[in-house]
Amino acid sequence: MNFHVMTLFPDMIMNGLGTSITGRAMEKGLIHVEAVNIRDYSQDKHLHVDDAPYGGGAGMVMQPGPIYRAWQALAEQIGKKPRVICMTPQGSVFTQKIAKQLSEEEDLVFLCGHYEGIDERVLEMIVTDYLSIGDYVLTGGELPAMVMIDCISRLVPGVLNNEVSAEFESFSDNLLEYPQYTRPEDFLGRKVPEVLLSGHHANIEAWRRQQSLIRTAERRPDLLEGACLTEKERAFVEQMRRKLPASAEEEKGFHA
Ligand code: SAM
Repeated sequence: MNFHVMTLFPDMIMNGLGTSITGRAMEKGLIHVEAVNIRDYSQDKHLHVDDAPYGGGAGMVMQPGPIYRAWQALAEQIGKKPRVICMTPQGSVFTQKIAKQLSEEEDLVFLCGHYEGIDERVLEMIVTDYLSIGDYVLTGGELPAMVMIDCISRLVPGVLNNEVSAEFESFSDNLLEYPQYTRPEDFLGRKVPEVLLSGHHANIEAWRRQQSLIRTAERRPDLLEGACLTEKERAFVEQMRRKLPASAEEEKGFHA
């Protein structure tokens, strides 16, 4: 999978993504990350890429010309008009579901803004998607692009050592993941839940499912609407949401 990032700060992208799991995926050739320096496409003798906004107001706006030329070069390199995702707090909020859809593309172009943003005309000409990482404003689009590329890369076969871990973790089925434990068995008097030491796989699975439901009901009840639950699970969750303790009977129902 090929990620092309149009940016004024290519080092930020290459240093950030060149580390850890994404870095190893790049070394293995599972993903390819290219940072395209928008400034290289300036035709200004001082390599300016921004100017004051028409109509007045604070800050500077990125000019359309350098971005358009950088996009033309990329389209030529890729061999077609690519999917171009503009990083903007005005976009739809990026989710695991969107990541899954994007992971099916061969080439993705990320456009990172800075200052007050980007001249609207070039956006109209080249952008296919507008995405945000949340309802807050950052100084530039590089961190959002890295967040999205990291998330999408984890879905590319081979990037994670354990494929199963991406399949079952938080958001994959509109539930948050269950709590995880590792050695030691007793940490400052806090013990690992006994069921996890039992070696009884069916009970472990049932415990994890129940913990997922509890955690989602407590922390992200909004997700439950889209979760695929059995009738028994939905009743359990309803009780959780009403803050009524589940009856021992129902809890037992989660164990094999
Ligand atoms: N004036 C713009 C507005 O009010 O919508 C904000 C510009 S922001 C200071 C500069 C750049 O940071 C944006 O062009 C965008 O690329 C990026 N950015 C800031 N917050 C973001 C967010 N939550 N998600 C995605 N990109 C963001």
